Amino acid sequence: EVCIRCTEIESRMMPNDIELSFVVPLYNEQEVIDELISRLQQTMDAAGFACEVILVDDGSRDETGTRIETICQSDQRFRAVIFSRNFGHQAAVSAGLQHARGHSVGILDGDLQDPPESLLDFHKKLSEGYDVVFAVRKTRKENVLKRFCYWFFYRTLRRLASIDIPLDSGDFCVMNQKVVRHINAMPERHRFIRGMRSWVGFRQTGVSYDRQPRVKGRSKYTLPKLMLLATDGLLTFSEAPLRIATAAGSLVAVASFIWAIYILIWRLTGDTSELAGFATIACGMFFLGGIQLLCLGILGEYVARIHNEVKGRPVYVVDRKIGFNAESDAV
Ligand code: UDP
Ligand code: MG
Repeated sequence: EVCIRCTEIESRMMPNDIELSFVVPLYNEQEVIDELISRLQQTMDAAGFACEVILVDDGSRDETGTRIETICQSDQRFRAVIFSRNFGHQAAVSAGLQHARGHSVGILDGDLQDPPESLLDFHKKLSEGYDVVFAVRKTRKENVLKRFCYWFFYRTLRRLASIDIPLDSGDFCVMNQKVVRHINAMPERHRFIRGMRSWVGFRQTGVSYDRQPRVKGRSKYTLPKLMLLATDGLLTFSEAPLRIATAAGSLVAVASFIWAIYILIWRLTGDTSELAGFATIACGMFFLGGIQLLCLGILGEYVARIHNEVKGRPVYVVDRKIGFNAESDAV
């Protein structure tokens, strides 16, 4: 039931009169969920066409699940996918994309850092002939260190990635169903949605916006989660880190060759004093040891990802769904 490959066929069979789906991943967001829901309701009321919201509960342990249940019962436009545990933001977004029925699908964070109203503008822009309209962050409201890390990451990714991934754009976007189908059909476990979205191609454009601060609560992206997302982005879209070994190896080889010639000349020109150089040898040994371990580590990161892909476990496990009819639109 969580097979990614099946979706292409299934989504084609879906009866469809929904114009825009909003996909919202949620993990322990009890402080913001009420405000989120009312903003989404206002946005849908203003839209002038049929909308739905797919709330994905990524294993919340607070009141998020109960609130989701309540809203799904009182407003038919809300539907929910509840995970069996926390699988991470990208898994939650993937689940939302799998379950969305709209002709186009918008993705936004649950903490209102991405204003839902903007998605209506993005949706309007699709009609100019675009397949993807993504948001580019003009400004951010996070602390200096975090902003620097984001800045550095997106520029490194852009240099290293084998495809053209736009700078400073996250998952906040609207895509048409065609693009969503292609993303859903990708079988990979390490999912970096903003990269996969670029990889798909078609006509894409960015719209800049000011990223808001989180309205309430604390960031659910812990440092390890953020690091994992960054390495997933780099390693699943670039082979450049693998070439570090080749580059470092060649550099050291050339340097040591020049050094060997230097020593030869030094000995031949008659310096017969005892060979000094213990410190040099020790430094060289540690330097090379360091480079070798670094390269092994990079290799290990790729091997670990291959290992995960080969195991072929699903990206997420669904505990239950709310608001899905058994036959017509079960995914
Ligand atoms: N999120 C999630 N699973 C996680 C971590 C985060 O579904 O394991 C959701 C979270 O509820 C929010 C969105 O992903 O709706 C973005 O997370 P957050 O705002 O905490 O990240 P930040 O904006 O600080 O990078
Ligand atoms: Mg946030």
